[in-house]
Amino acid sequence: MIRPEYIVEELSRYMPDADCDMVWRAYAFASKCHKGQKRVSGEPYLSHPLEVANILTAMKLGHISITVGLLHDTLEDTETSPNEIKDLFGEEVSMLVDGLTKISKLKFSSQEELQAENVRKMILAMSKDIRVIMIKLADRIHNMRTLHYLDKAKQKSISQETLEIYAPIASRLGMGWIKTELEDASFKYLWPDEYSEIKQSVIRVEKQRNQYVNLIVKEVEEFLYNEELSVSVAGRPKHYFSIFEKMRRLKISFEEVFDLMGVRIITSTKQECYLILGLLHSLYKPIPGKLDDYIALPKANMYQSLHTAIVGPEGKAVEFQIRTQGMHMVSEEGIAAHWRYKEGSPLNQEHDDQITWIRHLLEWQKDVDNPREFLEYVKIDLFPNDVYVFTPKQEVKALPKDATPIDFAFSVHTELGQHCIGAKVNGKLASLKQKLKNGDIIEIMSNEQQKPNRDWLKVVKTSKAKSKINSYIRQEERKRALEIGREILEKEIRHLGIDPHKLMEENKVLPPAQAIGYMSVNSLYTALGLGKVKVSNFLTKLAPVETAKAAKSKQSFTDAIKRFITRTPKPTKPQGIRVKGIDDVLIRFAKCCNPVPGDNVLGFISRGRGLMVHSVDCPNAITIGLESERVVAVEWDTEKEKKNSYKVGIEVETQNKPGVLAKVTAVMADENSNITDVNLSVKDEQTGIVSITLEVANLAQLQEMMDAVMKVNGVKNVKRVKNKHSSRGFNKSMSEK
Ligand code: MN
Repeated sequence: MIRPEYIVEELSRYMPDADCDMVWRAYAFASKCHKGQKRVSGEPYLSHPLEVANILTAMKLGHISITVGLLHDTLEDTETSPNEIKDLFGEEVSMLVDGLTKISKLKFSSQEELQAENVRKMILAMSKDIRVIMIKLADRIHNMRTLHYLDKAKQKSISQETLEIYAPIASRLGMGWIKTELEDASFKYLWPDEYSEIKQSVIRVEKQRNQYVNLIVKEVEEFLYNEELSVSVAGRPKHYFSIFEKMRRLKISFEEVFDLMGVRIITSTKQECYLILGLLHSLYKPIPGKLDDYIALPKANMYQSLHTAIVGPEGKAVEFQIRTQGMHMVSEEGIAAHWRYKEGSPLNQEHDDQITWIRHLLEWQKDVDNPREFLEYVKIDLFPNDVYVFTPKQEVKALPKDATPIDFAFSVHTELGQHCIGAKVNGKLASLKQKLKNGDIIEIMSNEQQKPNRDWLKVVKTSKAKSKINSYIRQEERKRALEIGREILEKEIRHLGIDPHKLMEENKVLPPAQAIGYMSVNSLYTALGLGKVKVSNFLTKLAPVETAKAAKSKQSFTDAIKRFITRTPKPTKPQGIRVKGIDDVLIRFAKCCNPVPGDNVLGFISRGRGLMVHSVDCPNAITIGLESERVVAVEWDTEKEKKNSYKVGIEVETQNKPGVLAKVTAVMADENSNITDVNLSVKDEQTGIVSITLEVANLAQLQEMMDAVMKVNGVKNVKRVKNKHSSRGFNKSMSEK
């Protein structure tokens, strides 16, 4: 087990003013916390945080990071609370330990490349401080170094995760040596046969190869020395995984990959890099198409170097990398090199470039003039516009910031989105409108009855959810319009005394529909339902003879009963209803069901138009009821109801004789009902329909009146009309004509 003294010595060597006391206290605290715990290897658990701290000294990080390295597993595996760490080591340390704990609690099961990319971004997004990532990588390095103690299944899954998630993160942050180590370690467990084969092959040909490389190195060194350039030239070992990848990618043999020898030249300035390139090309013959200038055009992770390949002695190809000391440090240590700058030992070269690099790398949004000040901002937000969450199966979904469970549901599946009724976020019930946070685990609850509604549009953030909800609403509106259109036409045809089934056949309806520009029966019905085409107009084309006849007979009937309307209708002033818990609301009664006192009712908040009162069995109310948040309980106010009258519709089926009609209206007058509208139609030869709108005080009065009408000789049936569509014609008030 590594000695803590060694770590403290190392730290104070590269950072003389480091707070070593803090490191010692962290060591003591960690040994107390992990007391008695053992690793699978049988070693005391404490060896792990010590090794992690040691790797952090290799990255030359400061006392805070080393302290966090020592404490990184104390929250997860022991009884320690975050507050304890905060009290003992301060806010910064506690925040970092907490960040590490959160990441290690994440469980990934990634297979696809897209999935892996999301996981990488999620980890970066969750690590608000870049040190969390660096310590996490050190943790992973030590776990990979000791992976042989675990069982085969764990070796595979941890290696898979390392290769897919952590090595690419190291690469992205420019930490070359960490990437290399993580890749080779994973390679060993994931493809053991290929790994040992490549390793054996390397050992077999290495000696011969090294001789050749040494020859080149010597030749180049001497040549450049004569040009008075002080450089370091060295053979460049290829790591096993990169050989494997090249073989796979280019479908070439080991020999072909390994024959390509690599030499690296490190110098002091950028100008010298170009100078050396020119000299090399004068010494050996360059291979066309192999020159890459990553100094002028750095890679995405700000890697810089000149790459070329030449034909060396014996006609063998040799690859060269030419770079400065600073570029080399960046390629090996990446972001860690920059971090060190903040902790007191500044890099003196190219640091402006490097600051630009970090900005670039972290997609830093904020403008900071002073680079030192910039580095004081330890908090980062790598993906400020995204949030990463889990499905119950541990798949990661990337969503825009402030996305809701509705967005999530649609991102999983359109069906799930359309039927979602609620969500569980991290196991707790949550509203569909809750904003999601990084790392949340979302489970959607759904119900077949649920449908998307307009309110959802106000909270969703993804364009997928928006467009799906919109298209659903549009589709439903058209579907409803189609049904309404067909129904209206059917009713009107029936009013003409014709059997609708005979007239509403495709070959009858389609020609007049096409004549007015509708290419299908359904599009005509939809137009009727949307009110784009007037039913009466269409009827004159569909059944011209019957329409004309009916208009005539209706006229005479209308004249006949006009005198029975005794009183002028007055507009009802809706009142007499009380909303539980709410005063002073504008109340209106729904025209579709015309509820009267005594009916069971519910209130529906209509935007900008007050409270709409429906009877509970009204089909519209049932539809509305699904948007339950807009429904309020209401009850009749028995004090006021007596003073008011309510419009209600009834339909009286009579023998088709004018005399019957007269008797009906007379009875109504006797019952003290105020008739405001009468409409007549003929059902068939024998039957006439009288549709009446009248005003009553309450349900009891209406019932009495209907009973009285029923007793009239010649009346076949009396029923109350609650449905908007079957009561069509009521609106055409005679008094308005
Ligand atoms: Mn650990």
